[in-house]
Amino acid sequence: KTFMQKTTRSFGSRAVPKQTQLFIDGQWCNSVKGGTFETIDPFTEEPITQVQRASREDVDKAVLAARIAFDHGPWRRMSATDRGNLLYRLGELVEKNAEELAYLEALDNGKPVSVAKAADLPLTWNTYKYYGGWANKITGDTIPAPGNFHAYTRREPVGVAAQIIPWNFPLLMQAWKLGPALAAGCTVVMKTAEQTPLSALKIAELIKEAGFPDGVVNILSGFGEDAGAYLSTHSDVDKVAFTGSTAVGLQIMRNSSLGGLKRVTLELGGKSANIICEDADVDMAVQQSHLGLFFNQGQCCIAGSRLFVHDKIYDEFAEKSAKFASEAKLGDSQDAATTQGPQVSKEQQDTVWGYIEKGKKEGATLLAGGEKYDGKGYFVKPTVFADVQDDMTIAKEEIFGPVMQIMKFSDYDDVIDRANRSEYGLGAGVVTKDIGRAFHLTNGLRAGTVYVNCYDVFDPTLPFGGYKNSGIGRENGPQGLDNYLETKTVIMSRPDGSL
Ligand code: ADP
Repeated sequence: KTFMQKTTRSFGSRAVPKQTQLFIDGQWCNSVKGGTFETIDPFTEEPITQVQRASREDVDKAVLAARIAFDHGPWRRMSATDRGNLLYRLGELVEKNAEELAYLEALDNGKPVSVAKAADLPLTWNTYKYYGGWANKITGDTIPAPGNFHAYTRREPVGVAAQIIPWNFPLLMQAWKLGPALAAGCTVVMKTAEQTPLSALKIAELIKEAGFPDGVVNILSGFGEDAGAYLSTHSDVDKVAFTGSTAVGLQIMRNSSLGGLKRVTLELGGKSANIICEDADVDMAVQQSHLGLFFNQGQCCIAGSRLFVHDKIYDEFAEKSAKFASEAKLGDSQDAATTQGPQVSKEQQDTVWGYIEKGKKEGATLLAGGEKYDGKGYFVKPTVFADVQDDMTIAKEEIFGPVMQIMKFSDYDDVIDRANRSEYGLGAGVVTKDIGRAFHLTNGLRAGTVYVNCYDVFDPTLPFGGYKNSGIGRENGPQGLDNYLETKTVIMSRPDGSL
C-alpha cells in the first residue's frame, strides 16, 4: 500500500499509518511532555504504532489555537458559502481516500473492513457533505413584536467546542461532531478515544488538504482521565459535546460547570427494547434483531439488547435466532469474508465475558455461544440467552458486546411498560405487519429513535439521541446544528420611535 510507510512490524503485511502526532493550529507536533501510547490491533493483539499522548499542556495549546481562530481568525468572517464548500470538499476527500480510511478503521477498531467500506465510510463522507450544505441555510426569523420595532433573530456560533468521542465508530462519530460544529461556524478541539486514534488523524490530514484555516480544527489523541477531563472543564471552552458511557457523561456534566457555564450535549448508553409481535414473519424478525444487536460486534449504543418476543412465536424465534448467531464468521478484520471481528480491546472482551457469566449464574438459558474464546484476538462468540427475566443483570445493564437477551411477552400495554422500565431511552424496535400495533407501540415507547421493521438505519438527515439517561440533545439533521448555535434577538427602533 503506497499510502503507508513500510511496516516494521513482524506481523503479515499490515501497513503502519503515517500520522501519529497531535494536530494543533494546523501543525503536526509532539506532546509538550513527550508522552506517547500504543494503539493495539485487536485481531493480532500487537501494537500497531506509538501515538503522541496529549497532556494538559497540549490541551491548553489546542484550546488557545481554537479560541484565537474563533475570536480573531478568518473562520467567523468567512462567508457561510465558503465554509460550506470547505466541508463539502472534506466529504469529497473522505470519499477519495475511502480505502485507506476503511483499512485504518478496521485495523484500529477490529470491525470487518467490508463493513467499514459499506457503512462507516459512506455515512462519514455524507455527513460532511450534508452539513456543508447547511452552512449557508442557517437563518433567523423576523418577529412581529408589538410596537414600533423591527425585531429579528440571528443564529450565531456558540464558540469553541470541545468534542470527546468514543471508539465504536471513530470516523462517523468524528463526522457527527465536526460536521454541525463547523457548519455553524464554531472552532473545535476534539479528543479521540485512546483505543482508536488513527483514522481521526488521517481526517486531520484531509482537513489540512481541504484548506481549513489553521486552528479551526484541532485533533488530540489521548486519554479520558487526563486530557479528556481537563478539556471538559476548560474555561475557554464554550460548549462540550460528548459521546460515550453514561457514567462518564454524568461526570462530564458535573465537571463542565467547574470553569463556568458551558453548553453540554451528551449521547450516552442504551439498553434498547426490540419488540417482535405475534404477526411478524419470524425469519425477517430474526434478521432484523440480529442486525440490531450483533452489528459492529454488539458495540452500538443503540443495540436492541432487550428483545421482547410474543409468546405465540417465542420458541420458533429463539431456535432460529440461536442458529443464525452460530453462523457468524469470526476472523481477521482485514479479511473480506469476516462478518464479526474482535471486540475493540482486552478490557471490553473481559467486560462482555463477565456479563455472559452473570447471565448463566442468574439462570438465563444459553442457546448459542457462551464459551470463552481461546484463540488470538479479543473475540467473543456470538451469544444468545433465552428465558431472560426483566430483573436479571443482563436485561438491565448495557453489555456492549455480541450477547442477545430474549424475553417473552403476551400483552402489548404490558410490554410497553416493561420496555420503558429502564434508565435508558436511546432506541427501540418493533417488528409487525399490523399498522395499528406499530402506532400503538411507537407512540408508547420512550426512546429517541424507534425502528419499525428495520434497525440501525443511520443517516445525517435523521436526528439521533436519547431520552432519560441516554443523553441530552440530538445529533444529525437540523437539530444537530442547534447544539452549536446561539440565538441573538435584535430589537430595532428609529431614534424617534417611529417605524
Ligand atoms: P467506553 O466505556 O465506551 O470506552 P467512555 O465513556 O469511557 O466509553 O469513553 C468515551 C470517551 O470519553 C473516550 O474518548 C474517553 O477517553 C473519554 N473519557 C473517559 N473518561 C473521561 C472523563 N472523565 N472526562 C472526559 N472524557 C473522558
